[in-house]
Amino acid sequence: MFFLDRLDLDRRFKLLRRELEARGVNEELRGWCFDSPPVEPPSRSVLLSVSELAGRYCQTMRDIYLRRVLNIRPPPSIKMARGIVLHVVNRESLSAVKRLLFSSEVLSGSDLVEDLLPLSREIIDKSIFEAENLLAKLDADVKNQLRTEALAFFRFLAVQAAARVDQAVSKYPHSNVDSLISIAVPPVVERKVDGSLVGLSRELSVDIYTPFNAIADLKTGEVREFHPYAATGYALAMEAEEGVPVDFGFVIYVQVNLSKMVPSFKLRYFVIGDELRREFLELRDEAFEVVSLGRDPGRPSKCPSYCPYYAVCERGIFEAPSHK
Ligand code: SF4
Repeated sequence: MFFLDRLDLDRRFKLLRRELEARGVNEELRGWCFDSPPVEPPSRSVLLSVSELAGRYCQTMRDIYLRRVLNIRPPPSIKMARGIVLHVVNRESLSAVKRLLFSSEVLSGSDLVEDLLPLSREIIDKSIFEAENLLAKLDADVKNQLRTEALAFFRFLAVQAAARVDQAVSKYPHSNVDSLISIAVPPVVERKVDGSLVGLSRELSVDIYTPFNAIADLKTGEVREFHPYAATGYALAMEAEEGVPVDFGFVIYVQVNLSKMVPSFKLRYFVIGDELRREFLELRDEAFEVVSLGRDPGRPSKCPSYCPYYAVCERGIFEAPSHK
């Protein structure tokens, strides 16, 4: 994540640390208390994904009923495809930067950018392939639009990475590759975490900002109230598996403005405190009940038009759509 300004992040986490010291986190709400309520899941036979629980568009959890009981997936949309494409570009750029730096042929930021830019096609093809594989074949115009956004994002990341390498080399001219990477590449690592101890999926993929053990979540759509739930779910799973506290979360919103061809970012920081933990655990238990009863919980009084299931519920015909 080359768009994170480490100094800015560290300053913000200092403030969050103060908030944490003042509020604390109730021990019984830590993930490592997975053998007693409220963290203990109602059952470990139904494991739910963090995104299923955290994507709280629907107040009655009819989305859980549609997906888990009727096996209906939301119809693919450009928003979903964009999310996959930009995540893949982010992940692949980070690996390409590390690979090139380790190859020892890259000695400066300009070397890096020259070697990175020719990889754009390969990385963008891969991102489109993954989106089509997970969702459905994309229309040509949607594909073109996503390609343009992905290219703008990739170029931005390449330039940011190059600038960081130059800053690091100029400040520490005698550093070796390992230390150059640790200085120039932001300390966000992707981790696989088994969430089953707290009733979540066995192979969660979590981005961790290591200096503060904070959970980072990249979003490519609009800002929604419920977004901090995802970091909360991952924090509980991490705490259960590792036995270390995860107190902070941040959501990074990225949007690519095609008129400028430069992405813009918004960051949201928070303490993963008692309230968020309780709310997330309640969602998990409620979702479990919906699945185990197998009964339609009905629609809320108002459905947001941006709910991924909106077309399904409006149409009222529950046929399992094909996605491939
Ligand atoms: S369209 Fe309405 S009822 Fe259907 S899942 Fe979305 S919010 Fe729930």
